[in-house]
Amino acid sequence: MKSAQDRVHPLWDEFCRDLELASSLEDLSDLRDKYLGRKKGLISRELKKLGGLSSEERSAVGQQLNQLKGQVQDAWSERQDRLKNQEREATLTQERIDVTLPGYPFPVGGIHPLRRVRREMEEISVRMGFTVVTGPEVESDYYNFEALNIPKGHPARDDQDTLYLSDTLLLRTHTSPVQIRTMEKQKPPIRIVVPGRVFRRDAVDATHSPMFHQMEGLVVDEGITLADLKGTLEVFLRELFSSETRVRFRPSFFPFVEPGAEVDISCIFCDGEGCRVCKGSGWIEIMGAGMVHPRVFQMVGYDSERYTGFAWGMGIDRIAILKYQVDDLRLFFENDIRFLGQF
Ligand SMILES: [Zn+2]
Repeated sequence: MKSAQDRVHPLWDEFCRDLELASSLEDLSDLRDKYLGRKKGLISRELKKLGGLSSEERSAVGQQLNQLKGQVQDAWSERQDRLKNQEREATLTQERIDVTLPGYPFPVGGIHPLRRVRREMEEISVRMGFTVVTGPEVESDYYNFEALNIPKGHPARDDQDTLYLSDTLLLRTHTSPVQIRTMEKQKPPIRIVVPGRVFRRDAVDATHSPMFHQMEGLVVDEGITLADLKGTLEVFLRELFSSETRVRFRPSFFPFVEPGAEVDISCIFCDGEGCRVCKGSGWIEIMGAGMVHPRVFQMVGYDSERYTGFAWGMGIDRIAILKYQVDDLRLFFENDIRFLGQF
């Protein structure tokens, strides 16, 4: 009959040899199965054999085996910790980041010049007490024309100018419909600016596009006069261009204002001396404006005896062309990064 020592010592020696050879966590896992596995593990098997021994032997061998089991578990865990550390260090070395290396080049986006000008115009307006309002690009004939005192048969309705979607729906030709939509919902006082896209049936060339951008302004209250219009536009245009900018009004006609005016600014390139941009005149036409026509007030149910107001509209694209001295409108819409990257 083998002594307890005879049964246990060889197992321990074998385990030690195996442990020595285990060089990865995977090997270690196999090792655990081999010695500590619940059913087929070598130690479990020895423990199962205890039943065939005398009670004296059973106690001695059982004690030894349990001791062995503890030793194996301890040695195994220690080895596992060591291997884990080794593997982690290997990973850290392999994946080390050299923070002194230059970063990957990453192109930075920018704001489109038209959006930049629109934002600037909005910011100036907001500082002056205006609220920014927007409206639909697909409009009804009523809002785009009828309510703005442009009755059927008016030249502004000419098919050449307007992109119709149906008999009554069209792509708005100006931002002015938003004036009507706002006044229908709101009582005076009104101080709004309306930026947005507008559409005309125009062929594309250096100065025309079937889609362009406008910003409209509207002020309505009791006692508003032409002097308020002039003062407001002067402040706005000096903020937008320069404090030296001079503003001039020329009588003109728009169906929804009376009186109406074309507004010029002193040429920002030659300061009024005369140059190529202003064609020698010293002035640049910048927008249309006027006092709101009483018919427009009647259409939205305002008392045109009590309220007066003024409105203006200008092309955002045209302002951008002037500010950035771009000589071809198409450049804004072609999305050539070489062009856009300059802003
Ligand atoms: Zn000039």
